[in-house]
Amino acid sequence: MPGEPQADCLFCKIVAKEIPATVVRESETTLAFRDINPQAPTHVLVIPKAHHPDAASLAAADPQAAADVLREAGEVAFAEGVAESGHRIVFNTGSGAGQTVFHAHAHVLGGRGLTWPPG
Ligand code: 5GP
Repeated sequence: MPGEPQADCLFCKIVAKEIPATVVRESETTLAFRDINPQAPTHVLVIPKAHHPDAASLAAADPQAAADVLREAGEVAFAEGVAESGHRIVFNTGSGAGQTVFHAHAHVLGGRGLTWPPG
């Protein structure tokens, strides 16, 4: 069933507190925590608590939860002090684009110059 926890999903385990994470924000539907391998001074992942494999699947199954992820990503950027200076919200989608965890997540990156196009 869409949204149900998956036993083999790393981020479902973080939601269930079976794996520790440095949580910076939590809402009813989302969790935000620091990336274990940060690519910028601010690198926070914002995930829906419900399991959806990627951003497009999340938006199709639960548009409100997708909006919640974006709202929380903006709140993270504000709290981290990168809202004004510039930040990037990235959803890698598919292994060809570098997605390694198939539970939808927004990367919130900031605190350094961000080049375009991304590599
Ligand atoms: P993706 O490559 O799927 O877009 O992003 C997955 C992200 O999850 C990567 O940036 C990776 O560093 C991060 N990550 C992988 N395992 C863990 C973990 O156990 N804890 C945390 N906090 N982040 C993780």
